[in-house]
Amino acid sequence: MKKKVNIGILGSTGSIGTQALQVISECKSIDYSVDFLTANNNFKLLIQQAIKHRPKSVVIANEAHIEEIKKQLKGLDISVYSGASSLEKVVETETTNIVLTALVGFSGLKPTINAIKCGKKIALANKETLVVAGELIMSLCKKEGVPIIPVDSEHSAIFQCLQGEPQRHVDSLILTASGGPFVGKKRDSLKNIQVRDALNHPNWEMGAKITIDSASLMNKGLEVIEAMWLFDISAKNIEVVVHRQSIIHSAVRFIDGSIVAQLGYPDMKLPIHYALSFPQRQPSSLKKFDFLDYPNLSFEEPDHKTFKNLSLAFLAANKGGSVPCVLNAANEVVIQAFLEERISFLKMSDIIENCMEKINFVKKPDLKSLIDIDQETRFLANSLIK
Ligand code: MN
Repeated sequence: MKKKVNIGILGSTGSIGTQALQVISECKSIDYSVDFLTANNNFKLLIQQAIKHRPKSVVIANEAHIEEIKKQLKGLDISVYSGASSLEKVVETETTNIVLTALVGFSGLKPTINAIKCGKKIALANKETLVVAGELIMSLCKKEGVPIIPVDSEHSAIFQCLQGEPQRHVDSLILTASGGPFVGKKRDSLKNIQVRDALNHPNWEMGAKITIDSASLMNKGLEVIEAMWLFDISAKNIEVVVHRQSIIHSAVRFIDGSIVAQLGYPDMKLPIHYALSFPQRQPSSLKKFDFLDYPNLSFEEPDHKTFKNLSLAFLAANKGGSVPCVLNAANEVVIQAFLEERISFLKMSDIIENCMEKINFVKKPDLKSLIDIDQETRFLANSLIK
């Protein structure tokens, strides 16, 4: 008999959410049912997804669209909710086994915490949750006995390399980075970068926020902090190496000198499929990797001078406490401003650095103080932009 899995997706209309629904449709070895789907603004796609996948409920964060959704889904026995508080509520759906957290940014924090409290297995695609509140999330997972399976390709790779290996065998983690569209460029040539240049990633098709993060190398910085929490390791034992082809998704160096890596085409469907199948492996219909397609794999040191964000993230990782929360909040604000052409590409890291220096340090922030620090940082970053 096929295994039955009930899944809920937070952020189903984004890049990860839509690919997850494809994985679910294409997977023949697991009998998936979709319990809930949520979207921020894209109600049209949410309606299409609901008609196809027939969830028990859908949530639209932007309340303005609720009536249209209700009208379109009338008679389908799908409950329709709106608002941020409904995101937290929907994860409580009793039948749900796995919650895929594919929201963007800080908004993923509260629903993820609630899903863990309800004992749901977490497939984590919202790295900002761990960046902001890693300590809180990981101790909550421990307390509730909830597994957290990474969907981020680098972390999925490391997670796979670590299967069957105790912590004491690990020397260091090696995160690979494509380098983004501006790899090899120096600061001077990045002065007049346009939004469309930054949105043009060489290897990966992703949402706008993470694509800008990849161009500025903040994505890799956030991933260092994410890895630190997921794998309980100090940032000092995490290396970043630029690997332009994005074939080696990341690796682990063990104490005997062996390196174990995970490889594949740059396609998020594989880490999504793995996270949803875990602890088993299930066959997939994804294209089989052929080494002969990639006779040359290259490796370079990241350019910390040009891409200051990577150094800022390591600094935040080493300082800990509230600093990663400040880094993340400032970053979310500057990206929005860059996308709206209110600030330049290089200005982004200056403002983040400024916020990290100015916001008061809290050693062990609880959820309430994280929410306050997030707000305070957003306010400061916005005023610095003006
Ligand atoms: Mn990644």
